[in-house]
Amino acid sequence: MQHAQPIPFEPQVIRSNLELWFTQHARVLPWRENPSPYAVLVSEFMLQQTQVTTVIPYFQRWMSQFPTIQTLAAAQESDVLKLWQGLGYYSRARNLQAAARKIFTDFHGQIPSNPLDLKKLPGVGHYTAGAIAAFAFDLPVPAIDANIARVLARLTDFQHPIDTPSGLDVLTQAAKSLLPQTQKGGRALTGALMELGALLCSPKRPRCADCPIRSDCKTTNPENLPIKSPKKKTVALLEKALWILANDSVLLTQQTGKRSHGLWKLPICEIPPETTPIFETIYPFTHHRITLHVFAAPPPNSLDPQDRWFPISSVLEEAPLPAAHRRAIKTLIHAHSQPPTHSTIS
Ligand code: SF4
Repeated sequence: MQHAQPIPFEPQVIRSNLELWFTQHARVLPWRENPSPYAVLVSEFMLQQTQVTTVIPYFQRWMSQFPTIQTLAAAQESDVLKLWQGLGYYSRARNLQAAARKIFTDFHGQIPSNPLDLKKLPGVGHYTAGAIAAFAFDLPVPAIDANIARVLARLTDFQHPIDTPSGLDVLTQAAKSLLPQTQKGGRALTGALMELGALLCSPKRPRCADCPIRSDCKTTNPENLPIKSPKKKTVALLEKALWILANDSVLLTQQTGKRSHGLWKLPICEIPPETTPIFETIYPFTHHRITLHVFAAPPPNSLDPQDRWFPISSVLEEAPLPAAHRRAIKTLIHAHSQPPTHSTIS
């Protein structure tokens, strides 16, 4: 399928207007103050699917506990997961540590600057490689995240889905044509485009009157852009787990699957109990909407190798837990210390 090409624009004018605006309006962010390759690597992993304001305290705690690639590479996986607790999508934390280890084994402890080498690191895809090359090494390479995609689609009035290979290709060409044709300069331009998308060119009600590139922007209906392919239908799932207490300890099971390897969960209940759940919560996961039901159960006669008792006084500090199970355990520990009731907690 042929896609419309972006409307030609004046890259130098747009670039200088964007960069001037950026120097005046850029937010102060910890990874921007000192964009060392390691700080940029960590921030880019954390920012995947997570808001800047949520990431800032996690980033600060992370840099204080694991200040270098070396400390991260040598850390226990359980410490890495605990520090990530609350950010979700734990595969990012495991990939970040695996990337640190690969940097030692394959790149002499130095984060590579070349996007092709960066893409050899676990968890580093096309966008993240471009972002690290631009922000950490100031290279003029494109890095298109959701904010930049929105700005470019509106700037060029791109009337096709942006989340297809051909749509992304058109936006990449637009980004390339805006980048300086020199050895450096990727940091300011990429940062400016991203910040414009975050602060002014928002999905709803963009502040076009304040936009530094308004006179070059081709769209007349920004809220209709960017166009995306139809979303996958949300699928409802039910997860059943057990609340098993003995001697003021709770039984948890360590996960071995790809997505939640190393995390601890309440034991999953394979056979549906006949009783009413004592706790329920709903959480999203990719295109699933999962309802977690927790049922009280007696201790089992024997434990599986991946089972372990955790004292309820320290389980929340000790065990890295996915958010929904953490919520359940916190609520049920609180309920355990209260007079008994018969209602479901959620
Ligand atoms: S003029 Fe409006 S739609 Fe165009 S880039 Fe600026 S904020 Fe976005």
